[in-house]
Amino acid sequence: RQQESFKMENSAVTVAVRLRPFSAREKAEKALQVIFTSGQDTLVQHPDSKQNYSFTYDFSFCSVDDDDPAFASQQTVYEKLAKPLLLRAFEGFNTCLFAYGQTGSGKSYTMMGFEGEAGVTPRFCQDLFSKLASVESSEVKYHVEMSYFEVYNEKIHDLLVIRDEPNQRRMNVVSSYGDIKGWLELGNKQRATAATGMNDKSSRSHSVFTLVMTQTKTESVEGEEHDHSITSRINLVDLAGSERCSRAQTSGDRLREGASINKSLLTLGKVISALSEQMLTRKKVFIPYRESVLTWLLKESLGGNSKTAMIATLSPAGSNVEESLSTLRYAQQAR
Ligand code: ADP
Repeated sequence: RQQESFKMENSAVTVAVRLRPFSAREKAEKALQVIFTSGQDTLVQHPDSKQNYSFTYDFSFCSVDDDDPAFASQQTVYEKLAKPLLLRAFEGFNTCLFAYGQTGSGKSYTMMGFEGEAGVTPRFCQDLFSKLASVESSEVKYHVEMSYFEVYNEKIHDLLVIRDEPNQRRMNVVSSYGDIKGWLELGNKQRATAATGMNDKSSRSHSVFTLVMTQTKTESVEGEEHDHSITSRINLVDLAGSERCSRAQTSGDRLREGASINKSLLTLGKVISALSEQMLTRKKVFIPYRESVLTWLLKESLGGNSKTAMIATLSPAGSNVEESLSTLRYAQQAR
C-alpha cells in the first residue's frame, strides 16, 4: 500500500482502467461478472481458480451498471483523464493519451464514441476550440494543425487522403471544431473501409490523431514588438487490440517479442515502463523509442517535457478473464 501510493505521486503516466457493460451477446450467454471496481481499485475474481487479484490505478472507471455510484460516463472519463491533458497543452506541454485493451473491450468507444455518446477525441477538440476562443487576444494568437493516420505493419497510412501513399503524413490547418469534425468523419470512414477488405485490420492497427497547437505571444519590449511561440503536440491514440500481444507471451509478466506480434504495442510497453523507472530512480535509463514506428513517431510526446495518460479497457465477463488480467498487468507496469 505504502509503496503504491509513493509510486503514484512519482509516476510518469496517469493510468485509468474502464470496465465496459456486458454486450448483448454476453447478456444472452448469462456471462459472469468477474471484474469489479471500488474507488481506485480494480478487483478480479478468477472464475476457475477462484483466486482474487487486486490492482490500484489513478482511476478505475466502471460502466457495467448505470445505477452504480461509480458509473463513469463519457463526460466523466473525459473530465478526469483527458481534460488535464488539455490544460497541460495550453501550458506548452506535449501530451499523449493511449487506449489499450483487447478487441471489443471499448477502446474506440472511449476514444471516438458515436453521435450522442461522443468519446474523448471529439470532446477534446471541442473543448480546445472553446478554450482557445476565450483566451485568444491581440497579444496571443493560436494556430492549430491536425493529422490522423494509422500505423499498420510498421507503416504509416494517412487516413485523410483519398489515395494513400505509405509513410506520408499530411498536416491540415484547422480553425474550428467544425473543420476537425469533417476530417474525423473522413478518417473514421477510411479506417472502416480499409478494415473491411482486410480481415481484422482495424484490430491490428494503431490510429493516431494528432493536434499541433502553436501559441504566439506578441510582447512589446522597449517599444519593439517581439513574437514568441510555443508549440504543443497532442496525440490521442487508439492502440491495436492487445490480444496478440498477450498470446505471444510465454511466461511471467514480462512482454516477450515474437515474429507475429505487434512490435509497436510491445515497444510502447517497454518505453513507458522505462520512463517510469527513470522517473522513480531519477537515473538515466535507456528508452527504446527507435524500436518501433509508433514510439519513434511519438518520441517528442513521451517522457521529458510531456504528460502521458493511458486508459486500459476491459470486458467484465469471465470468458475474457485471461485477456483482462494481461491488460491489467500491462497497465500496472505503466505506472
Ligand atoms: P474496441 O475498440 O476495443 O474493439 P469498441 O469500442 O468497438 O471496442 O467496443 C465494443 C462494443 O462495446 C461497442 O459496441 C461499444 O459501443 C460497446 N462499449 C464499449 N465500451 C462501452 C461503454 N463504456 N459503455 C457502453 N458501451 C460500450
